[in-house]
Amino acid sequence: MSEKRTELEQLGEFGLIDHLTEKFENKQSSTSTGIGDDSAVISHSKDESMLISTDMLIEGVHFNLMYMPLKHLGYKAIAVNVSDICAMNGVAEQITVSIAVSSRFPVEALEELYDGIRAACDTFNVDLVGGDTTSSLSGLMISVTAVGRAKNDVITYRSGAKEHDLLVATGDLGGAYVGLQLLEREKQVFEANAAIQPDLDGHDYILQRQLKPEARIDVIKFLKELDVVPTSMIDISDGLASEIFHICKSSDVGCKIYDEKIPIDTETSMTAIDFNLNPITCALNGGEDYELLFTISQDDFEKIKGNPHMTVIGHITDKAAGKYLIDKQGAAIELQAQGWNHFEE
Ligand code: ADP
Ligand code: MG
Repeated sequence: MSEKRTELEQLGEFGLIDHLTEKFENKQSSTSTGIGDDSAVISHSKDESMLISTDMLIEGVHFNLMYMPLKHLGYKAIAVNVSDICAMNGVAEQITVSIAVSSRFPVEALEELYDGIRAACDTFNVDLVGGDTTSSLSGLMISVTAVGRAKNDVITYRSGAKEHDLLVATGDLGGAYVGLQLLEREKQVFEANAAIQPDLDGHDYILQRQLKPEARIDVIKFLKELDVVPTSMIDISDGLASEIFHICKSSDVGCKIYDEKIPIDTETSMTAIDFNLNPITCALNGGEDYELLFTISQDDFEKIKGNPHMTVIGHITDKAAGKYLIDKQGAAIELQAQGWNHFEE
């Protein structure tokens, strides 16, 4: 190692991944897509491929056990990985789960974690087939790998969006972020005075969005039934703006999205406003909704039109046209990808 010292925040999460992996070249003909999409694509036959995705959750960074029940955490750890397989238009089939635990946790706590993992395995129809267990000096870490499958002609990459394609978001956005704000506020209230009970009434939806996100395996099924193969797709883990940037960068295109089209649930909007937050900003820059963002050819519009799970939020433009959010007055605001940068506070 040289004397030079570069701080992680100078590169950011994505810059760091690019930097560390740029000298790697794939040697295997079966490695059809390596680093850079939601899952790797491994092809052993000309018809079908295996999809692999991995994600790690760290106590104090990705979750806080003060308000995250272990059962929900187990569920979420699986959901976020299945979501990455969905983002390739694939179906997850197996998972492995590795945990590092400190002696702070009794067996009963880990049983709860695994109750959640089992519930997710049932919901998402995947089998737990392995993992690793080790000790940690402080805190809990969970790393999950999901393995899935897709026909080669329907695998959807971040890179396939074309000018004039429609941009579609599933479900609604911003709820997980607003749910987190609510949990953080109640945590602070509790820390200041343990006698005050948390006030979470009437916020079931956004709490569920934060604590028990769902991977959209249903959307993958609908797309198949509707005979729609998206031209590109990504899951919305870091906020809509960040994911739009990934699709535009990989596809070498620009886009226009319309703020009044962005699907936001009423409870999300109302709670955001209570927190003095703009609901659109929560959808754009909040994280962890685990919805899907995809593009379709205009020819497929009739097939998804009126579908309650899918909202057209804009369209793809030429790269030179940039990436813009059009507000209700028609003003064009350049999109900023804030998303989550794990190395910045
Ligand atoms: P996602 O948000 O969909 O989980 P990430 O942003 O975590 O994706 O990762 C982007 C890409 O970089 C993925 O292909 C992932 O497998 C790869 N990647 C992330 N971290 C590393 C690493 N430390 N070494 C090699 N590849 C990595
Ligand atoms: Mg992803």
